[in-house]
Amino acid sequence: PIRVRFAPSPTGNLHLGGARTALFNFLFARHHKGTFLLRIEDTDRERSTDEAIAAILDGMRWLDLSWDEGPIYQTSRLERYREMALKLLDHGHAYRCSCTPDELEERRKEAQAKGLPPRYDGRCRDRHISPDVPHVIRFRNPSEQTIAFNDLIRGPLSFDGNLLDDLVILRTDGMPTYNFAVVVDDADMKISHVIRGDDHINNTPRQIAIFRALGADIPMFAHLPMIFGSDRTKLSKRHGATSVMAYREMGYLPHALANYLVRLGWSHKDQEIFSREELVDFFDLDHVGSSPSVFNPEKLLWLNAHYIKNSADSDLSPLVFELLPSLEDPLPQTSDLSYRANVVAALKGRARTLVELAESARPFFDRHLTIDPAAREKALVPESLPILESLLTAMGSLQEWNTDSLKNVFSQIGEAQNRKMSDLAQPVRVALTGKTVSPGIFEVLLLLGRDISLARIAEAHS
Ligand code: GLU
Repeated sequence: PIRVRFAPSPTGNLHLGGARTALFNFLFARHHKGTFLLRIEDTDRERSTDEAIAAILDGMRWLDLSWDEGPIYQTSRLERYREMALKLLDHGHAYRCSCTPDELEERRKEAQAKGLPPRYDGRCRDRHISPDVPHVIRFRNPSEQTIAFNDLIRGPLSFDGNLLDDLVILRTDGMPTYNFAVVVDDADMKISHVIRGDDHINNTPRQIAIFRALGADIPMFAHLPMIFGSDRTKLSKRHGATSVMAYREMGYLPHALANYLVRLGWSHKDQEIFSREELVDFFDLDHVGSSPSVFNPEKLLWLNAHYIKNSADSDLSPLVFELLPSLEDPLPQTSDLSYRANVVAALKGRARTLVELAESARPFFDRHLTIDPAAREKALVPESLPILESLLTAMGSLQEWNTDSLKNVFSQIGEAQNRKMSDLAQPVRVALTGKTVSPGIFEVLLLLGRDISLARIAEAHS
């Protein structure tokens, strides 16, 4: 059976690279009807925090990446790592080492001075250190072996065992190291495929040697290429926001971000937009490329706009409302859910983010209107005052407030004053929304209704 895991270290936010790894594991599991497991690698107690754990879980939930097992915390399995380290000791695959950090440091410097690799020299290999002396447990690296594996993305790889050192598997305080805990877990949890970032590729031969020593089945490995910024260096803060939750705050939809992330490395013909069902259907590792992908914020924005435009109004309007916490004096119709949805429907085609959508929606919900100074300067000029005045009078005496009656008023006044439609619409638009860009003017007039429309025009005119 297919069993995969996402195994973040909770030392910070869920970042885009981690989210992509989680997504690929999730889709691989769903595609193959396998199991997706979440494992929190929290053995680095100094750097792991509860906030980071919460941020990772929140990020995963927000991206709609549900896991089937877990979260499993490595700190709840410390006994197991100890047990397995002792097993390796018993079988001669590991040994106790009592070299102190100072000694190791000194020898490292000496080696460096001689131009030798700064590796542990194996001094304690045959020393039979007593368990009562402070010690670490080291893995006895079978240096004669060549370690080869077929990476599902990179192809066949092979490593000279001589280049690996006798790595520490259990520290003096009994904590396992990353390479050891990961192998014990992947073996115990029967992980069939390890899909992770290729920053781990040099750990893989070390881990395979430990799998072998434990007599455990070795999973398949797939190392995902890096994500670069536009300058072709590893994606980092310098390239803009990198945490998943920052994108939530900037008004991105989770499925838009996931759709963006999936294309960082994976492709399906030349399709760009995928429903979740399509992703589950199409995703596999054979179309993950081996070269790094470049993060492109413009494309992400484009995808987000697409997802906003194609979301149901009733799904969007609560999200928009969350972004408008400070409505001091809401318009009466604001409490009407279908009104909210109508406003969203009118505006969503122009918004690239939910934040933009909320900004353009504010004039439809808030009694207080802020007029953008540049818009005022452009459209509420002296020449437009007579237009507003005539419109105000004519619209004020309308029997019916509908598209046809409003269009009539506009064309009559346009003709009478020899003005183009836009000469009328633009000052009205600014008076009603405070901006020079909005949905069609009749749509705006209908949404706001007679009382508010007339009051705002009068206000702008005064
Ligand atoms: N905990 C490791 C990390 O956050 C990942 C381990 C793995 O996938 O093997 O980078």
